[in-house]
Amino acid sequence: MRQLIAGNWKMNGLLDEASAIVGPLRRGADGLGCDLLVCPPATMVMTVAHILVGSAVAVGGQDCHARPNGAHTGDVSARMLRDAGASWVILGHSERRADHGESDAAVRAKAAAAVAAGLTPIVCVGETEAERAAGRETAVVGAQLAGSLPEGFAGVVAYEPVWAIGTGRTATEADVAAMHAFIRDELVRLLGAAGAGVRILYGGSVKPSNAAALLAVPEVGGALVGGASLNAADFLAIAQAA
Ligand code: 13P
Repeated sequence: MRQLIAGNWKMNGLLDEASAIVGPLRRGADGLGCDLLVCPPATMVMTVAHILVGSAVAVGGQDCHARPNGAHTGDVSARMLRDAGASWVILGHSERRADHGESDAAVRAKAAAAVAAGLTPIVCVGETEAERAAGRETAVVGAQLAGSLPEGFAGVVAYEPVWAIGTGRTATEADVAAMHAFIRDELVRLLGAAGAGVRILYGGSVKPSNAAALLAVPEVGGALVGGASLNAADFLAIAQAA
């Protein structure tokens, strides 16, 4: 299975910065051995999708509402993202779980809405430092998977240990291997045979210097990249390591 290298710009980037990133990506994406995805802020999904039309780089949102439309001030629906040119959406990122109190049930409803709108969801899971210190990392991630994935889930899962996000600290290759093996087992238990085909991304301080080692870990199906995706050369270097 081809690995997926996904860039999560988070709440970063204005239009001029976006074109400085996306132009080189468009040129650099041809001939890569992996799938490439950028997820800009909602304000720029349409512009970035326009720049990338006909290229090998896909565009995604960073969140969506579970309802297709209605009285939900400030929210964006999956259909709207699709309409703007997105084909993917990140859901249940730990920053949304923490900043907006998103529950597993909310993430599950959003994932179902995303699929119904024709988007492929990337559902994020991951434990906090305190949970890992207490030896609860698999219990936490197992509960997140069971609660967040809708029936018949056919998207992507991203394992992002909260303590590795934006900190410069990555999980060790052994920790990543153990958690990804656990997630694979859970996916097969929850989804049956389809669970064997779900790509499991690693996220948390992925950069050019550590990408090759992390992407070589068994059951790592790609990377969800934050900070390093804001620099086209770094993001392409990570993609070349896939
Ligand atoms: P960093 O790569 O900046 O650690 O962010 C990871 C992340 O949260 C991607 O969704």
